[in-house]
Amino acid sequence: MPPDDLYKFDRSETLMARARKVIPGGIYGHKSPVLLVPGAYPSFMARGEGCRIWDVDGNQYIDFMCSYGPIVLGHKHPRVEEAAAAERSRGDSYNLPGEVWVELAELLVDITPAADWVVFAKNGSDVTSWSLAVARAHTRRNKAIMAAGAYHGAHPWCSPIPTGITDADRANVLTFRYNDLDDLRRVVAENRGDIAGLILCPFRHDAFHDEEMPAPGFHQGVREICDEEGIVLVLDDIRAGFRLHLGGSGEVLGLRPDLICYCKAIANGYALAAGLGREELRQAALGVFFTGTFWTATVPMAAAIATINTLREEGGIEQMEAMGSRFRQGLDQQTRSLGLAINQTGPPAVPFMTFDADQGSFERSRLFCGECCRRGVFVHPIHNWFLSAAHTEADIDEALTVTEVAFRIVKEHFGS
Ligand code: PMP
Repeated sequence: MPPDDLYKFDRSETLMARARKVIPGGIYGHKSPVLLVPGAYPSFMARGEGCRIWDVDGNQYIDFMCSYGPIVLGHKHPRVEEAAAAERSRGDSYNLPGEVWVELAELLVDITPAADWVVFAKNGSDVTSWSLAVARAHTRRNKAIMAAGAYHGAHPWCSPIPTGITDADRANVLTFRYNDLDDLRRVVAENRGDIAGLILCPFRHDAFHDEEMPAPGFHQGVREICDEEGIVLVLDDIRAGFRLHLGGSGEVLGLRPDLICYCKAIANGYALAAGLGREELRQAALGVFFTGTFWTATVPMAAAIATINTLREEGGIEQMEAMGSRFRQGLDQQTRSLGLAINQTGPPAVPFMTFDADQGSFERSRLFCGECCRRGVFVHPIHNWFLSAAHTEADIDEALTVTEVAFRIVKEHFGS
């Protein structure tokens, strides 16, 4: 494609200039442009359909970020939209929950071997913080353990940026090295009898890092340590949930947790989070004060029921795995023939790719992802990617024609 045909972002830039005047930074958090490549990405989106999204300048992209996870069936999935519209035609937010509150809880309990009950909220951070409160209520202990560098949300105990947070907010949070059972045993031994809960993602998917799967025996060891020490084991399945297994990612990765945290993909883009638990923790959950203004809204719950049933009936998880594998193989072939060394990590439905020669600098990743984006393939240089069940072989093959060009540009620029 000649350079003149590359995407332009005039309207995005105008909107961003307006945004900067009235919103600190224009866009903040994980969707801030500072994490992307200046000039190569839009800042504002206009619409989405299936695995395609359009920005405010009318540029079209094949979407490999899926709203950073929520869009698991594709944008505007007809069955989900129909269920949400039917619910919305009657209302959404009442003095009390609707029937869908019960129906969705029953469905989640039905598909989740590790869970006997469910609570609902809005954001992932709501349920990760809640899970530790339940662990504390159950054990009457104070401390929690997490893997160093893992992301569990934006609340003070776990926010990756400490600005505005006090030492006291973090005083009860301990860390251990992911995949290192000896280190976990050391932290547990040093705090014996004080640890209420251990919170763990199904695999390591920290930003700025290759993904890392649990080593053989790691999950089993974690479960044994928690059982021996009376520690509540929480699976933070917010990022990977509903992409690897409908019963929770622990089911494919050999981990039976005591509590599960879901958010992102549960309702195909509608705002909903869920905390699931085992029978033994029901009483503790009952004691924890947990509520929020919009938490009983019925439209996202109707959307979640439709999302889960569609994934189940239409083989969405298998489709994401197949398309993620096709994309991965294509990237492998392209880089092998160009003599570029890449690392492809994580499960095919939640993949990530880095360049060996970058050695953690992400220079090649930024050039590669920027060149993809300005040609219509939305991938991210420092955050893992996401497949949806709407990606088809034709979409993957079309995306690969763009990645081929972007890899050549990396090769020309860096030589290796
Ligand atoms: N845990 C994990 C693993 C996540 O990926 C996220 C969101 N990126 C969260 C917790 C927090 O979710 P939220 O942003 O909805 O609060």
